[in-house]
Amino acid sequence: MSESSGATMLEPHTPVHLSSTPHVITRGQGVTVWDADGREYLDGVAGLWCVTLGYSEPRLVEAATRQLERLPFYGSFNHRTNDVALALAEDIAEIAPIPMGRTFFANSGSEANDSAMKFAWYYHQALGRRQRRKILSHRCGYHGTTTAAASATGLSHIHAGFGAPLPGFVRVHCPDPLSPVARDLGPERFVDWLVQELEELIAEEGPETIAAFIGEPILGAGGLIIPPEGYYQRVQEVLARHDILFIADEVITGFGRTGSMFGTTEFGLRPDLVTVAKGLSSAYLPISAVLVGERVCAALAEGSREFRTFGHGFTYSGHPVAAAVARETIAILRERDIPGRVRAAGTVLANALDKFRGADGIRDVRSYGLLGAVEVDPARFGVGTGQVGPAVLEAAAAEGLLLRAMGDTLVLAPPLVSSDDELERMVDRLATAYDRFRRGRP
Ligand code: PLP
Repeated sequence: MSESSGATMLEPHTPVHLSSTPHVITRGQGVTVWDADGREYLDGVAGLWCVTLGYSEPRLVEAATRQLERLPFYGSFNHRTNDVALALAEDIAEIAPIPMGRTFFANSGSEANDSAMKFAWYYHQALGRRQRRKILSHRCGYHGTTTAAASATGLSHIHAGFGAPLPGFVRVHCPDPLSPVARDLGPERFVDWLVQELEELIAEEGPETIAAFIGEPILGAGGLIIPPEGYYQRVQEVLARHDILFIADEVITGFGRTGSMFGTTEFGLRPDLVTVAKGLSSAYLPISAVLVGERVCAALAEGSREFRTFGHGFTYSGHPVAAAVARETIAILRERDIPGRVRAAGTVLANALDKFRGADGIRDVRSYGLLGAVEVDPARFGVGTGQVGPAVLEAAAAEGLLLRAMGDTLVLAPPLVSSDDELERMVDRLATAYDRFRRGRP
């Protein structure tokens, strides 16, 4: 096998003009991965927030192998499907955060979100409200990079160069407790302010033109933003009053990450549609899903009677091998009470992160379940926004820790099976990396 420089692969979320060789990971075990040079890293971000059960769960490998041998593929179009997809839909119905009508399968978080938005459009069309097309979302929300998901995403680096967003995607303020308005008003009045902004925006756009609001219970790629208490409940009241559907994007928060199986339960939400991906299969194979609420399902059924078709689905919707791995993942999550483990481990992570509180240059420290963030103030180091994060990331890799930087916010989203000791070592390595970065500065 020849050594590859990476020159033949168009790498996702990587500037195309970079001519250097990518960092290549070749092996994983537990919560540790090794690169092509044999260097070892604790994976503080579970791949891309997704390898919830770690890198060497034999039951997932066996589930895939068994299914590959029995039936490697059968699709789900035209009222013919495979037994595993049906069984997975049953499993999901059992653990769903709120009573759900049905589950639709896709392959990625982006596809699930595009599907959910299309279902919202179809729902309103079926009810004869054809002008309800607009989608509301957060300025700091991330929902993926397919066309509608990228348009609902608020982050400008996802739009740049692609002419995104499409028309009809309207954004609301970020529920960021560190934003200047939040600091001025305090948490309670900040929620009032956000709700008033939403009301005014809906009035301005015309409620009869709005199909759905999509939001993450905890906003991940936007910088691990934990909305103030009561925020989504108030938002949902407004949406319900205007008959606007609510889509909970649980691509990160689903399957145990917050200490409940779903963020929807954790935050007492009542979404019409829930999208999941990543942790559904512990990322061992690509699979995602849209959990469709009863009310929406009923309208989809009405619609398909009227339109005589439901023209949506992917070749690999309900892929049996991915579905078999997802079934086994759910079985493990339940048998081992992984959400319960996350609640205990979340305390360990929060306590470990406490060492950053009040430290030089630290703007905020926050965590929820097994999501943790340390936000650095770049002004302290006399550099522009977004310059500290990548520098600390590099220093962390040198210390044997992989994590993510969202601007100057350093994010940990470790595998949910990380031991207390592994979590503490991750935070220690982050602290050493930050110290090294800091000492290199005036
Ligand atoms: N939604 C959220 C909240 C995400 O964090 C992501 C990916 O990180 C997506 C959607 C998109 O998922 P995918 O990359 O599988 O398309």
